Amino acid sequence: MKDLGSELKQPIASWKVSPFWHAARIREYPQLTADAQCDVAIIGGGIVGVSAALKISSENSKVMLFERGKIAEGSSGFSAGVISLATTVDLRIIETQFGREMAAALYKRLSDAVENTLSQVRQYMDTDALQKGTSIYAAAKEKHLPILSAEQEIRTEYGMPTKLRSKDQLPAWLNAFHGALLLENERGVNPVRLLESIAKTANDKGCEIFENTEISAFEHKQDGEGYFLLKSGNYTIKARHLLIATGVHGKRWSQKKSLERLLVPVRGDIIVTAPSPDVARIVKDEGAIAMWDTYQMLYVYMRYLPDGRILAGGADSPGTGEPLLKSAKDENIKRLHAVIARRHNFPIPPVDYAWQASFSLPADGLPLLKQVEHGVNNLVIASTDGLPSGMLLGEVIADIMAGRKNDLMPMLEERRKRSLEARLLSLMPDVPVLRNFALKLVFTGMRLKDILC
Ligand SMILES: Cc1cc2nc3c(=O)[nH]c(=O)nc-3n(C[C@H](O)[C@H](O)[C@H](O)COP(=O)(O)OP(=O)(O)OC[C@H]3O[C@@H](n4cnc5c(N)ncnc54)[C@H](O)[C@@H]3O)c2cc1C
Repeated sequence: MKDLGSELKQPIASWKVSPFWHAARIREYPQLTADAQCDVAIIGGGIVGVSAALKISSENSKVMLFERGKIAEGSSGFSAGVISLATTVDLRIIETQFGREMAAALYKRLSDAVENTLSQVRQYMDTDALQKGTSIYAAAKEKHLPILSAEQEIRTEYGMPTKLRSKDQLPAWLNAFHGALLLENERGVNPVRLLESIAKTANDKGCEIFENTEISAFEHKQDGEGYFLLKSGNYTIKARHLLIATGVHGKRWSQKKSLERLLVPVRGDIIVTAPSPDVARIVKDEGAIAMWDTYQMLYVYMRYLPDGRILAGGADSPGTGEPLLKSAKDENIKRLHAVIARRHNFPIPPVDYAWQASFSLPADGLPLLKQVEHGVNNLVIASTDGLPSGMLLGEVIADIMAGRKNDLMPMLEERRKRSLEARLLSLMPDVPVLRNFALKLVFTGMRLKDILC
């Protein structure tokens, strides 16, 4: 086992718990200090909230976004920042459930949402905050090679650039793999910088943003055309439409419960090493973005950062918790560092930062939307399992708020055709202790499968 570093770096800036991405903030937003009124109120400044804010405020609606902490202080800002369409959706499963045409439409719209968002906010992203290049999906066992071939087949069918490499064609710096797929057009971002840039662009377009402004309650009023009345401290906000985008850490509003029953709450650890000249070189010369392997539940993903650090995440377990800083002595942190060391043919520097955070994983791997009818007033609740889907949801939500039809809705809405996993999950009792126990059993089963298969 390599040296993990004696002391991990401590939080700086104004974050409650600082992940690595504590970039100097582009802008702080004020707290709400008076009653307010708008067309669309958004609760939550994560990727879903800011993406919807950008899209809706581009259409001349008066939008207000309320974030209980700072922009990106939920799962989004504690993520690894890998923007991978390859891992966002499993096209084969989607094809089986919704047909090829819908799977192709979803992939295209996801890819467009990422490109559109990044091009709109590029002026606020410094070069190091946005990487483009190649990710590596590697076979951890020889008998996993057919997984790569199947993946390449579907990616080729959908026009995604992919190259299959045998063991002896792998980059010399990778260790202990039996083959790999090189996935092109992948991206990596500093997620805090990305969300700040989206929020700032929305703000430029007229969206009013309030930080340190927690929404504690809301109700629908029938007077006139009807409206939503939100409460924050001593103030009220009147809105024609409402988006709840509060992620996994948000309040359990009753309207959200049926949606939450389709989500697996997951806690994951992340480490970031000190800079290594070897990593800086593979980023610069080979455009390396990320790497992960064919293990399912034991899997660890890695990101190669432009300044030569390696970020590794994984060690997922069921359940949620507020983000927290981890110690170098923590077993999962040691395990993640050991995995990086085993997978590379160059020395791995000690760990500089480590944290744990939670997110929600939809049982069938697709983002989820719930639209609650209130006459002409739309209430939308949205949940994503990744940054690209969050950007796509922003576009779909803008359509709903404007009363436009969106052809992806049958795949995204809560009542969609459900996979077996999603049906089983929704049948689990809504008692957190029992649900967690059942999920732990499922995770253990999947881990065993990884070891044995
Ligand atoms: C460790 C980890 C690594 C990950 N790595 C990746 C990755 O590499 N790539 C990827 O695509 N995805 C990754 N993800 C998943 C991704 O981060 C999440 O799916 C996504 O960020 C969820 O976005 P969201 O907008 O739904 O929620 P959040 O980002 O959690 O945003 C919700 C916001 O709502 C606010 N809020 C809650 N309640 C209230 C209230 N009452 N009033 C006002 N505000 C409120 C919260 O403070 C929060 O800022 C990772 C997640 C984790 C935890």
